[in-house]
Formats: sequence, C-alpha cells, structure tokens
Amino acid sequence: MNYQHVLFAADFSEDALQVGAKACAMARLHGARLSLIHVVEDLNISLGGGYELLPVLPELPDAKLLHESQTALAALAARLGVADAELWVVNASSTKEGILGAAVEHAVDLIVVGSHGRHGLALLLGSTANAVLHGAPCDVLAVRIREA
Ligand code: AMP
Repeated sequence: MNYQHVLFAADFSEDALQVGAKACAMARLHGARLSLIHVVEDLNISLGGGYELLPVLPELPDAKLLHESQTALAALAARLGVADAELWVVNASSTKEGILGAAVEHAVDLIVVGSHGRHGLALLLGSTANAVLHGAPCDVLAVRIREA
C-alpha cells in the first residue's frame, strides 16, 4: 500500500535536514503529496505577585515569530529540494497537538519526525516523537538522528 500524504514535522535544528531527507525520500518513493509543518507553541506567561492561584496564561505568539517561521520553513524546503511542497506554520498549545491536528485535518497517512531534536534528553521522558507516536491517527516514522 502506498502512502498518499507524507507530513514532515520540522524543527529548525541541524537535524532537520537529515530527517527531512528521509521524509522527501518516502514521499518520492510512494508518489505521495508532501507537506512540511512547523508548530509555534503558545507562550506561557506567569504573572507572579498575587496571581499564584490563577492558571498559567497562554499567550499567542506574535505575527513576527509566525512570519519568521514561515520564511525558515521555506528555506528548509528549498535546501531539501522540495520548494513546491506545502508549508504549514501552525500555532498550537503544544507541538504534538499542532502536528496531530494538522494530520487529521489534511488526511496525512505518514508523519515523519526526528527521534530527538532540540530537547535531546527529553527522549527519556517523552519527546515530541513519543508524544506524536502515541496520539497519531496514522503511521509514524521516527528517524534516528545520526551524530555528526
Ligand atoms: P524534540 O522533541 O524537540 O526532541 O524533537 C523531535 C522531533 O520532533 C524533531 O526532530 C522534529 O521532527 C519534531 N519537532 C520538534 N519541534 C517541532 C516543532 N516546533 N514543529 C514541528 N516539529 C517539531
């Protein structure tokens, strides 16, 4: 069975090229549509000083951050040689929610993530890859990052 729609979850770490190359290869192999997603998480602000009983308030990232992410995602797609892929910059409460929400919305059938990224040590504690794997409505390819 061929995959129809491959989603590459891209952070902007040095590993993104390695993971992205695998995602592109899978899409090419299967003749699948390829989309790239970068999630910008809500910022959590803590007011402190007399507001301790309030939950931490989420604040939307500003337009500049979203715009810069769009530019960085386009640059990453160009470096991977897939300038025509669909590029999604999504704001969500967590990276996992952003990726899984988009996967459901766009009928993705393969999500490609790195096995570790910015939060390398978090692999032991439940990294993005783990979180995505547990909640995914489809197959997930966790690409083992090779140390340079
Ligand atoms: P991490 O949990 O930060 O170690 O990241 C593991 C993998 O999750 C990365 O290699 C990416 O594939 C993906 N990832 C991490 N952060 C993001 C993000 N903000 N947007 C999309 N994918 C991400």
